[in-house]
Amino acid sequence: MSECIFCKIIDGSIPSAKIYEDEHVYAFMDIQPLTKGHTLVIPKSHKEFVYDLSEDEASNLFKVVPKIASVLKETFGPVGMNLLNNNGAPAGQSVFHFHLHFIPRYDQTDGFR
Ligand code: 5GP
Ligand code: ZN
Repeated sequence: MSECIFCKIIDGSIPSAKIYEDEHVYAFMDIQPLTKGHTLVIPKSHKEFVYDLSEDEASNLFKVVPKIASVLKETFGPVGMNLLNNNGAPAGQSVFHFHLHFIPRYDQTDGFR
């Protein structure tokens, strides 16, 4: 059985607040949100880094980016949004299953730089 917490979120053995799911992709709320609506989008296949994604895996993930961003915009009403991906511990990665952060932005005092 996988020790990866994001694989466990995909298989349901760790609960999560789901935003979106299809055959290839799962999106859920970050447990420690940097701003209201902070969401993570992951491939269902376990790949650690951006370098490990196949073209199909990257394509399946990035093609739902506008839809997920639109849901967050409509749900939370931000005035901006950061998309962010960390690869490797020196770059700030703490969970080693590829993920794209969606960080809705509200104003200059929303706490995230
Ligand atoms: P990283 O630092 O690897 O780019 O981002 C990992 C993110 O995963 C962090 O923002 C952290 O809050 C989030 N995270 C870690 N464990 C869990 C969890 O069990 N559930 C959820 N929903 N998010 C998690
Ligand atoms: Zn995993």
